[in-house]
Amino acid sequence: MSSEKTTAIVLRLIPFSESSYVVTLYSEDFGKITGMAKGARRAKSAFASALDLLSVCRIVFIRKSSDAMDLLTEAALEQPFRAARRDLSRLYGGYYVLELIDALTDQRDPNPSLFRTLQETVKALDSNANVNSVLVRFELNALKLLGQLPSLYDCVECGDRVNSNTRVAFGQTSGGVLCERCKIGKRHVVSLSLEAIEAIRQLSNERSAAGFHFSNPNVQGELRGLMNHYMSHLLGRRPRMFSFMGFP
Ligand SMILES: [Zn+2]
Repeated sequence: MSSEKTTAIVLRLIPFSESSYVVTLYSEDFGKITGMAKGARRAKSAFASALDLLSVCRIVFIRKSSDAMDLLTEAALEQPFRAARRDLSRLYGGYYVLELIDALTDQRDPNPSLFRTLQETVKALDSNANVNSVLVRFELNALKLLGQLPSLYDCVECGDRVNSNTRVAFGQTSGGVLCERCKIGKRHVVSLSLEAIEAIRQLSNERSAAGFHFSNPNVQGELRGLMNHYMSHLLGRRPRMFSFMGFP
């Protein structure tokens, strides 16, 4: 047993007994961890008000042996999520991001870059940034860091560069764009406008994503539809937060 310190974001809080919580966090140095926070539901505790969904906090926890739950001993709030009070779409967007992180990661599998992406996304949702572009950017970035980014330039089946001046075929189950030959007979293929494929390429690239904004609402809708299908396919279910966010 050793005591560890790290920065983390609260993913999930489950009340346990009258006074405690079972807390799942995504941490910078240890990836996803789940620990018992004893007494955290009492007014005066070592956790003060740090344990809130989307809060960034500095935590201390005791690592237990492989199958026992860790013990969270302290949490200090570093960055509260304030947007919840002024804009529900930001709160739901934040919960969706947490849902994805929880579903796509395993316990104790550190990925500091993914943590930073999560932290930046939560900060952006808490600012005035456009929620839709923040979410698509997060989805693509997280997929890239987890090795699940769809193929956006080369045909996912044969590897040929996909060149089209009209529309591009995207295979939901194949995991990326398809050339004219390979798209024949494939199921779950959607046809994307050139503007949409260009937007997704820009948003998946760290450098071009920063200055990106949707100038055409149709493209924004097209991309959202694509991501809805792709994330549902990846998770094997429709994300729970889709209903709250008004996604079909
Ligand atoms: Zn092909």
